[in-house]
Amino acid sequence: MKKVLVLSTGGTIEMLQKKSGLAISPSSSMDVSSIDTLPDVEIIVRKYLSLPSPHITPEIMADIAEELRRIEVSREFHGVVVTHGTDTLEETAFMADIHLEGTLSVVFTAAMRSSSELGVDGPRNIRSAVRVACAEIKNPGVTVVLNDEIHAAGRVTKTCTSNISSFDSPGYGPLGFVDDDRVLYHRLPIWRMNLPQGPLVLEGRVGLVRTAAGFGHDVIDFLTNAGYRGIVVEAFGRGNVHPDTADAVERAIDSGVLVIITSRCHEGRVLDIYAYPGGGVDLINRGVLSAGDMAGNKIRLFLMACLGRGMEKEQIRNMLSSL
Ligand code: ASP
Repeated sequence: MKKVLVLSTGGTIEMLQKKSGLAISPSSSMDVSSIDTLPDVEIIVRKYLSLPSPHITPEIMADIAEELRRIEVSREFHGVVVTHGTDTLEETAFMADIHLEGTLSVVFTAAMRSSSELGVDGPRNIRSAVRVACAEIKNPGVTVVLNDEIHAAGRVTKTCTSNISSFDSPGYGPLGFVDDDRVLYHRLPIWRMNLPQGPLVLEGRVGLVRTAAGFGHDVIDFLTNAGYRGIVVEAFGRGNVHPDTADAVERAIDSGVLVIITSRCHEGRVLDIYAYPGGGVDLINRGVLSAGDMAGNKIRLFLMACLGRGMEKEQIRNMLSSL
């Protein structure tokens, strides 16, 4: 018998339609009755939280990751399925991925439709996630399973507000699929971002800003003056900004703020190829770090964890160097 823990944290998968709209009922607990049919698997359900995922802060994500680490060390379970709201699932899954050693199979899942809706996807997603948690695959890292697709936590994102096929890994695609007869992996990540083992302490003053035409300097200056320790900038294209934004970035760096550049494009790496004021070459010369092809929301969590550990800029640069 394989023991799989289903750790529930809230989200639409636990919600019901009330007169006022969808809500988690305080008495609700995860219904796994429809997935009891899996042979050779004992499913244990534990309610960890009951929150809509927009209420899940980085600190709560760190608690979930620490709880998963305790379970990983205990070796009590073959795998853990975490049920979570879809809105911030990719962030909690990534937080767990950078924190865990990788010896426990951890699969995040969710539902795009509540159990009051026609074509509810939650029970099937849990069933598929349990099957992935039981699959004997070495080192896939934390995975996310919805709509019978398996995605890497570092790459997956919610792409659609409503469709059950919302979760995708732009530029990379799924690692594999859950079919009726078996779990099929087609590729495995050859690396994953990971922190050295140790407690997950977060620096809360890390901002994420997204550039847009005319973005200017105000927001970055505001964060710098408010005492932020880190800023992740989702820049244009290959990692370029307006000269006014570049000046604000330089002021931030001069004040000791660590600035990391990602792109607001869905695919591709940031690279210093443009030498004009505000271009990638100029930004690197002014002291920014580049986060390659990582998504801004995930790099922000990574930076929170690095700064929380007291890591210096050079250490963080080294950790980003393979991107
Ligand atoms: N707003 C919900 C949440 O993230 C959406 C969901 O669970 O799918 O909690």
